[in-house]
Amino acid sequence: MSKYDIVIIGGGLGGLLCANILSREGFNVCVLEKNKKIGGCIQSFTKDKSIFNTGLNYTESLGEGEVLHKYFKYFNIIDKIKIRRLDIENYDKISFSKDPNEYPLAQGYDNFVESLFHYFPKEKDNLVRYIKKIAEVCSYFPLYTLDGTRESSQKNQFLNISAFDFLSSITSNIKLREILGGMNSLYAGVKDKTPLYIHALINYSFIRSAWRFVDGSSQLAARISDVIKEHGGNIIREAKVVKLSGDNNKINYAELDSGEKIYGDKFISNMHPASTLKLVDPLLVKKAFHNRISSLDNTIGMFSIYMVLKKESFPYLNYNHHHFSDVNVWTTNYREKSWPEHYMLYTPATSKSETWADAAIALTYMKYSEVKKWDNTYIENRGQDYLQFKEEKAEKLLDFIEKKFPGFRSHIDKYYTSTPLTYRDYTGTPEGSSYGVLKDYKNPLTTIITARSRISNLLFTGQNLNMHGILGVAISSALTCSEIIGYDYIVNRIIKA
Ligand SMILES: Cc1cc2nc3c(=O)[nH]c(=O)nc-3n(C[C@H](O)[C@H](O)[C@H](O)COP(=O)(O)OP(=O)(O)OC[C@H]3O[C@@H](n4cnc5c(N)ncnc54)[C@H](O)[C@@H]3O)c2cc1C
Repeated sequence: MSKYDIVIIGGGLGGLLCANILSREGFNVCVLEKNKKIGGCIQSFTKDKSIFNTGLNYTESLGEGEVLHKYFKYFNIIDKIKIRRLDIENYDKISFSKDPNEYPLAQGYDNFVESLFHYFPKEKDNLVRYIKKIAEVCSYFPLYTLDGTRESSQKNQFLNISAFDFLSSITSNIKLREILGGMNSLYAGVKDKTPLYIHALINYSFIRSAWRFVDGSSQLAARISDVIKEHGGNIIREAKVVKLSGDNNKINYAELDSGEKIYGDKFISNMHPASTLKLVDPLLVKKAFHNRISSLDNTIGMFSIYMVLKKESFPYLNYNHHHFSDVNVWTTNYREKSWPEHYMLYTPATSKSETWADAAIALTYMKYSEVKKWDNTYIENRGQDYLQFKEEKAEKLLDFIEKKFPGFRSHIDKYYTSTPLTYRDYTGTPEGSSYGVLKDYKNPLTTIITARSRISNLLFTGQNLNMHGILGVAISSALTCSEIIGYDYIVNRIIKA
């Protein structure tokens, strides 16, 4: 019989980081991952010798002394990952059809203000006010500031402010307002739902510094797993958990699809909380809790094209391009007829060349309703009509890209595509949602999932807690593990790392 101190369900970034922290603290840890490959959304894959990321396109604040650098140092991986800083003068470019300008988002607060000031000379004070305000919001999150302060109720004042209303209060210049919200696809922002704190934590951290992983994002999972194994942790792949059983408000074991039972003192679920509760013995979960979690909305999924480019044909771009058909970056509720209304296009970083790109990735939103008719199918086995659907969508997206970059198609050797169904089946996230539970400023406390579940020895971790993304999940892992090793203890360890 296998028995561990801590059993972690899911080897995505959240599960792996919890295993990293707890194995180093001397706990006997086991990660159960349903796929052959660990990493969940941070997996990358290779096609025709080109490497493609599935859900880690770029990341933030990895400069010495910055927040993610501190976390990565604490996880003992900072010196082991290959990263490249994006262009200081423009890590992102924002553009709109019918406007030839490409508006740069620059790294560094002064730089950021100066580069947009060039296009909006009357807006300097507003730009400065914008930076100050998002900095202020971040200052209320102690696991972000890592200054040794504790959570305070002052933070709550920002939880129920809308990101869109905030941006509207910064400037009456609609174009500038939309440019400031131009990284919308990094959080799948919804105009009447997304809270200011999500926008602020993400934008502020990228303005500090923006980075790409070189040769694929899978390395992040591989380096975290090296540390786990070094400290005696166990990672079992192709171990799909199908049941969590127990009694007296306590889980005793996780049952795998093979029938094997993995016993533990404590369980951490890296799965979506609604999917987790479906596995729990109904006698252990109160119906009201189950219903509340299952009824939460999730962020929209993505359609992606992974393009293998012809050799030495298209330059490597050390920035990301966010393009919109209208001066409106809030496009999750797009009209199907006018899809796609936006895309993010970028060339992944490789160690082969800093001059030429061998691959490009384009992403845009896709509602689950568009693929719902293939709900009962599984990867690589969805039928000819699904393949045709994907091809039509890919061609539409390429037409849109071609309008902005005439001749772009001529650089493509071949391409592959994914839809929200692909994510649903690889990562198990409901309806292939990109970032999990949709946070709502009107119901902040209902949509923020806490690490503690109602079951005494079950904790949640990952993107569904406070925030998604690499930084959000790193913070969530600390929050989850603080329930086991203590909040002050873990914060001190991170600060002193
Ligand atoms: C298209 C896309 C683009 C993104 N781009 C960026 C970006 O540029 N920068 C950024 O910071 N973030 C980005 N993100 C977000 C980021 O990748 C995620 O927030 C983060 O990786 C989520 O990690 P997680 O551990 O919470 O969840 P997941 O990665 O979903 O991990 C969950 C794990 O649980 C496993 N699992 C599920 N069910 C079971 C089961 N029954 N038994 C065992 N295991 C199970 C899954 O296989 C998976 O490995 C992107 C996400 C997407 C989808």
